[in-house]
Amino acid sequence: MAVALVLAAGLGERLGLGRPKALAELAGRPLWQWSVDVLRRADAIERIVLAMPAGQVDVVQTALSQAMGANAESTREPSVAASRAPSVTVVAGGAVRSESVRRALAAAGEGGDEGLVLVHDAARPLLTVEIVQATLAAAGREGVDAAIVATPVTDTIKQADADGRVLGTLDRSELWAVQTPQVFRRGALERALDVPAEVLAEATDDAWLIERTGGCVVIVPAPRENLKVTTPLDLQLAELLLARQDAAPVVGHQ
Ligand code: C5P
Repeated sequence: MAVALVLAAGLGERLGLGRPKALAELAGRPLWQWSVDVLRRADAIERIVLAMPAGQVDVVQTALSQAMGANAESTREPSVAASRAPSVTVVAGGAVRSESVRRALAAAGEGGDEGLVLVHDAARPLLTVEIVQATLAAAGREGVDAAIVATPVTDTIKQADADGRVLGTLDRSELWAVQTPQVFRRGALERALDVPAEVLAEATDDAWLIERTGGCVVIVPAPRENLKVTTPLDLQLAELLLARQDAAPVVGHQ
């Protein structure tokens, strides 16, 4: 069994809504709810912690309580969770993404060093149960500290200086565009997060924190549909993809 941390505490200013991205409406539901609903359907997930901007914890808790009934709980009201479906705990995130991970993990309760922790950005609402299962399976293999979903890079990638002068062309055959979920051995993640704030601030994903200390990180090929909502165009694309539920993405297909 695994714990899932859903990160939704960013401001998402590039979306231009004037409110946190996680509250953006996508096909009739707030953005954060899509990932949480998928994770609640994944058998291997026993608990979910959702990191929201501090000012949104109560409003999201209320929405969860309405949508999911007795399984929702807040950090101020620990308890509940009677059925098989995982409980959802809402916490305030931090100033940077990795700080939100640290806070969510701290609220996830006790867990062994080898237990699995899945970290997912709420900004990727097209998560599927298949992606969750494949990533958990890869992270559970002997000698693996973390498993991350990614797609092969199809564009040619150039490196350039601040003036736009091209410095070189990277070997595309070795490049992957990284997504979430990312699944970690709990002990490895806790040790990786136990670093000064300036190191945490540099991390755009948690796997980098494992890589920098020599940990073993493996890639799980994921569908392009698992896109990240950053701009209004991404929101429209996500809406279109969700509308064709029949064409739900399958892990390993590009
Ligand atoms: O900023 P970026 O798009 O990389 O954020 C990825 C995810 O991390 C988003 O789902 C966002 O809500 C979350 N995040 C967070 N806490 C922050 C910054 C980002 O939970 N301080």
